[in-house]
Amino acid sequence: MRRIYFDHNATTPVHPEALKAMLPFLGATYGNPSSIHFLGREARAALDDARERVAKLLGAKPGEIVFTGSGTEADNHAIAGAVGALKGEVGHIVTSPVEHHAVLHTCEHLRQHGGVDVTVLPVNGDGVVNPDDVRRAIRDDTALVSVMWANNETGALQPVREIGAICRERGVLFHTDAVQAFGKVPVSVSDVPVDLLSISGHKVYGPKGVGALWIRPRVKIESLLHGGSHENDRRAGTENVAGIVGFVRAAEITTSRVETEDVRLRALTERLWQGLSTRIERVRRNGPADRRVANTLNVSFAGCKSDALLMSLDLEGIAVSSGSACAVGSLKPSGVLLAMGLGEELANAAVRFSLGAATTEADVDAVVEAMPAIVARLRSFAA
Ligand code: PLP
Repeated sequence: MRRIYFDHNATTPVHPEALKAMLPFLGATYGNPSSIHFLGREARAALDDARERVAKLLGAKPGEIVFTGSGTEADNHAIAGAVGALKGEVGHIVTSPVEHHAVLHTCEHLRQHGGVDVTVLPVNGDGVVNPDDVRRAIRDDTALVSVMWANNETGALQPVREIGAICRERGVLFHTDAVQAFGKVPVSVSDVPVDLLSISGHKVYGPKGVGALWIRPRVKIESLLHGGSHENDRRAGTENVAGIVGFVRAAEITTSRVETEDVRLRALTERLWQGLSTRIERVRRNGPADRRVANTLNVSFAGCKSDALLMSLDLEGIAVSSGSACAVGSLKPSGVLLAMGLGEELANAAVRFSLGAATTEADVDAVVEAMPAIVARLRSFAA
């Protein structure tokens, strides 16, 4: 059976060149980068090189990069670290309801256990934050604003430049979760007024279990992990050298193709939307048609349930998701779609199609072919 993978926002396959770059560090070059002997020095050289290269991709300096064990860890480190740096003073965080759970649950944890006050901003029908709402939400005790660059469920791009400018004007730290933006749109910390930025390996054709947090110089945040003096004393734990090397190689390849892939994937997601919306009635496109990362299309099929759609597509060899992969298994509707004003029924009827580097027109056409019968069958059960 043909297999079509339309779930690249959940994860991406490792690029063969990234795998090739990693292999020596899973084999003969196995040293610990903290060891001073020759094997350690080889690993250290690879780590230093990877740090320099990823810094260059972000328009940053190598010393500003902290490699982490995931995008989730980078988000936790940024937010909990900023609150930790308040040294016990009661603080306030501003965030949005469309953030990944790595941000939302960290804020919620700090609210429950750290006495931190959290403001969750409204979003418009496309899931986009209004910068004026950020301005209004900032208080004298606000430690941090955390708003993502691109949304994982709808692809919506947030006005990070405007939000960053407001934060700078008010002297408040700005963290952005760029996990879904990096490799899909140009992401540079020299262009956007941001203080903390998270990225992840497995969304850019690198391996899972590796990410990075960029920290602007002189920004004081507490470490999340305590132990050795790795990562310039900012993140204890022996570095995942193979993972880091693979992540950075993949990131170089993926970011070098941002512009061409944007055009190609935008045409493919439009073709998918045109195909679905002309052949199937009562469909709704969720999120902005234009200001989005090009690979993502989120559609609600009224009268169907997301999980039934997912399973039916799965039987035909088509892999999609209903939204945040972490929410799979729970039947709760997507919080992102609810925040955008969708009712429970439409929020529970959504499918996220996220295309990638290997996606072809033929893949899109096969999904467009398969979908009408699936939707008609599920609607007939519901009727
Ligand atoms: N932030 C966003 C926007 C994501 O989409 C994800 C992964 O789905 C993460 C953070 C977490 O990254 P990781 O899977 O590397 O922990």
